[in-house]
Amino acid sequence: MVDIQYNTSLLPYNTFGIDVKAAQFVSCLTIDDIKEVITLIHDQNLPYLVIGGGSNLVFTQDFDGLIIYPKLDGISTVKQDQQHVWIEAGAGVVWDDLVAYTVNKNLHGLENLSYIPGHVGASPIQNIGAYGIEAKDSIEVVNGIYIDNKQSFTLTNDDCEFDYRNSIFKNKLKNKTIVTSVIFKLAKKTTFNLSYGNVLEEVEKLGEINLSNIRNAIIEIRKSKLPNPEVNGNAGSFFKNPIITKALYTKILHNYPTLPSYPIDDHFIKIPAGWLIETAGWKGQSRGQVAVHDKQALVLINKGLATGKDVFQLAQVIITDIKNKFEIELEAEVNMIGS
Ligand SMILES: Cc1cc2nc3c(=O)[nH]c(=O)nc-3n(C[C@H](O)[C@H](O)[C@H](O)COP(=O)(O)OP(=O)(O)OC[C@H]3O[C@@H](n4cnc5c(N)ncnc54)[C@H](O)[C@@H]3O)c2cc1C
Repeated sequence: MVDIQYNTSLLPYNTFGIDVKAAQFVSCLTIDDIKEVITLIHDQNLPYLVIGGGSNLVFTQDFDGLIIYPKLDGISTVKQDQQHVWIEAGAGVVWDDLVAYTVNKNLHGLENLSYIPGHVGASPIQNIGAYGIEAKDSIEVVNGIYIDNKQSFTLTNDDCEFDYRNSIFKNKLKNKTIVTSVIFKLAKKTTFNLSYGNVLEEVEKLGEINLSNIRNAIIEIRKSKLPNPEVNGNAGSFFKNPIITKALYTKILHNYPTLPSYPIDDHFIKIPAGWLIETAGWKGQSRGQVAVHDKQALVLINKGLATGKDVFQLAQVIITDIKNKFEIELEAEVNMIGS
């Protein structure tokens, strides 16, 4: 029998440090627990939300329903051939523990994703990415359970419709599944991706180019650039990098010749949202208890007592300002939960 807790503080379960409560909260250690909880949701017609490490969420109010916290554990080898090893990790495994495990086993693929907060179960949801790599580059299949009929599923990489910070789990299957485990296909042979920013330079400072030096270099870069959620609550990059037409890019470039850009194809260009926000003058600015981080304008931080509504309001003001200044509509990467 699962153990439902009532009137539970969600403060330990969200990295933004928003002090809200859930009417009901349940940890699920097994697939049977998950099925039992799904029955409960159906029988009682309960609103629900699945969470992992809460590092990509902002609650704007108390959650009047059931929070489902999958804690399925375990990392194991599924199979291997001469070039690859397939590793399965439970949804509740801490993401960075999985990365550390693969680096220790000398398996290539996840090292650039070191130190991203959260759990394995959430990694396919927004197709986490950093330093030139995305989870989709290594995900073989995602296993889970459909909430409407309690059936198990196995979705292949193609089925997941991965895209930049996007997947089927944020669209057709939004709030319709509980991911139980993910299988990653990792390479035995040396394949590094060090082309992003100053990664190569930072690795070389540590000595030879190997998995453990890459992991350590990425951790150091991240620590120097991103606020520690234990000091200042945050959810990492608050907005997605917008993709705009070439025509709009040319128009903005006319007024802002230093506009950075990453071509997507012949027609579309990705622009760093952090550059737009910084150029609009928001870096280091505060509104009450919420601020734009003074080292990285893409990150909003909790100065201590922020409410989710404060965060939402500052995000809206920034979205409107960027729209007015650049004709670009920023989209939140972070999931806002509540009205
Ligand atoms: C300091 C900091 C740095 C960050 N850096 C990066 C980065 O470099 N790259 C990046 O991509 N992200 C980054 N993030 C965002 C975040 O860490 C990732 O999105 C992460 O995958 C969220 O995992 P989580 O377990 O905390 O998910 P949560 O925030 O708990 O949930 C996120 C979403 O996934 C859903 N979900 C969670 N678990 C499950 C499950 N088992 N089944 C079904 N749905 C589920 C939730 O309903 C929600 O919609 C950063 C965040 C912080 C705080």
